[in-house]
Parts: sequence; structure tokens; C-alpha cells
Amino acid sequence: MKVGFIGLGIMGSAMAANLLKGGLQVTVWNRTAQSCQLLANSGASVADSPRAVAECSDVTIAMMANPEAVRSVRDGVDGIIAGLSRGKGFIDMSTVDVETALESARLTREKGALFLEAPVAGSRKPAEDATLTIMAAGDRELYDSSLSSLEKMGKKIIFLGAEGNASRMKLANNLVMSGMLTALCEGMALAAGSGLDSAQFLEVLDSGAIANPMFRLKGPQIAANTEFPPAFPLKHMQKDLRLALRLAEEIGQPLFATAMVNELYKSALADGLGDADFAAVSRVIRKP
Ligand code: NAP
Repeated sequence: MKVGFIGLGIMGSAMAANLLKGGLQVTVWNRTAQSCQLLANSGASVADSPRAVAECSDVTIAMMANPEAVRSVRDGVDGIIAGLSRGKGFIDMSTVDVETALESARLTREKGALFLEAPVAGSRKPAEDATLTIMAAGDRELYDSSLSSLEKMGKKIIFLGAEGNASRMKLANNLVMSGMLTALCEGMALAAGSGLDSAQFLEVLDSGAIANPMFRLKGPQIAANTEFPPAFPLKHMQKDLRLALRLAEEIGQPLFATAMVNELYKSALADGLGDADFAAVSRVIRKP
């Protein structure tokens, strides 16, 4: 199968590399062209527009920063939709809102092609290790025909029915993640601020019912409070909170804690921490 891949950021570059390693023919495009080089060295072809990627691929995957970025590669004369035709597929793996997913599905089907939204859970390392969780929704036929390609990027792949459901699932998932991370930051600030040893605090957390891989990964980084190299950029987590709150508003669901967590992330953005890892939100919580 010929696969196109558009959006070679932290996640996309690792996911496209795994498709190549899995023996697929891959054509890539990225706004910043130099990000294509590493993949080209590993055997990927480089196209000169998203449209050109879609024209030469059976299935075109996008992994973009946010809904605006999806629209910028999807629409217009050089966009993905312009390169689609009957028999082709478009899979958007970016985390976006339901409206963007529905619009992508509609535009894709107008060209006679099939659509899946397939956002992922798991960060830089799971993307590199091909152990992502992939939440897919949309055209079942495309899910079935592209499952072997999705399996080259993820270990848990779940089909959720009609398009929109994968975005809903992903936003609910990240709401939990941001809340847990915030609780960890506050617990660590309280423990350290009251004279406790951070390593021992993490040891206690890790030995009980609230032990989890994220605390294990981010805890030492938060304790060190020096570098927060981006695995999941903070600006993307704030985008997910914004989209989750908007979804909650649409269905009339109050999200008391999440609304407050969003304010923390907005504050971190205002402090210039958008490109750091989302764990850098601890800088807003921790006393200097
Ligand atoms: P990233 O490193 O910031 O990469 C974003 C990609 O979007 C880059 O290819 C960037 O191109 C492109 N882009 C941004 N704005 C654009 C625009 N206006 N026009 C065209 N291209 C644009 O992001 P990431 O961490 O890979 O995340 C990608 C998606 O996966 C996001 O929706 C994120 O929420 C989601 N996600 C991320 C993680 C994670 O841990 N990182 C985990 C799960 C889900 P340039 O290279 O030119 O900037």
C-alpha cells in the first residue's frame, strides 16, 4: 500500500518512520521542508504539496498541531482534498474538535473517498516504539483496509463508530491526563515546600493505588525543575483542554476541575512555556 504522511512534528516523524520500517512505500510533506530530510534518507519520497501526496497515495495520513493546521493542509488548491478521488482514503490522526472531524469526513466523501479520524494516546516514546493507542472512527471499510498500516504505529487500536466519536474519546482522555498531572504538580509542591524529599514522595505514590507510568516519567522532571524538553508540547495540551471545555459546553456538561486546570495551562502559556513539555505547568504552581 502507498501511504502519504503529512505533518512531521514530534509524533508524525516517528510514526512515518515506523511505516517505512514496516516496509510501506511512504511519501511525505511538511510545512518546514527540512523535517522531510531524515525520512527521505530512510527511503521516503518527498512531495511538493499535500495535494501531490494525496494524488500519489492510496491512503493519506495527517498528523497536525491543531484544527487550523489541519484546515491549512486539507483545503485549497494544493490541499489533501484536491488530491483525493474514488478508492483513496484520508486518515486524520491529529487531535481536533468534532466539527473539524465532521467537516473532513464530508469533504473527503464529496470526492468519493473514505475518511477516518484516528487521534492517538501516547507521546514521543510510544510513537517511536509503535505502541500508541489509536482511536479510530468513520468509514469502517477504510479502517479494515488500513488496519495493518495502523498496526505499524500502535499496539491498541479501537474502532469507535461514526466520525466525531474518536475526537470525543481523545478529548475526554486528555482531560483526565491534564488533571492527573496537575494533581501531581500540586502534591510535589506541597511535599517539597513543607520539607519532604521529592524522591521519597514519588516512591510513596508509586507504591500505592495511584501509581501510574505518567507519574513515573514526569515526577523526576518536575522534581528537578530544570529542563522540560517537549514530548507533548504544553500548547497542545492547552488546545485539548480548550476543545474539551467547548465540547462540554455544547452538551451542557459541567467540568469544574477541568475549567480550573485550563486556567493554569493558560497561565503557563502566558509565561512563555508553550513549547516546553506539558509538565512545565509545574512552574506556575511551584513557589520560586
Ligand atoms: P508538533 O511537534 O508541534 O508538530 C505539529 C505539526 O503540525 C508539524 O508538522 C507542523 O509543521 C505542523 N503545523 C503546525 N501548524 C501548521 C500550519 N499552520 N500549517 C501547516 N502545518 C502546520 O506536534 P506533535 O506533538 O507531533 O502533535 C501532533 C498532534 O498530535 C497534535 O494534534 C497533538 O495534540 C497530538 N498528540 C501529540 C502527542 C505528543 O505527546 N506530542 C500525543 C498525542 C497526541 P512545522 O514542522 O512546519 O512546524
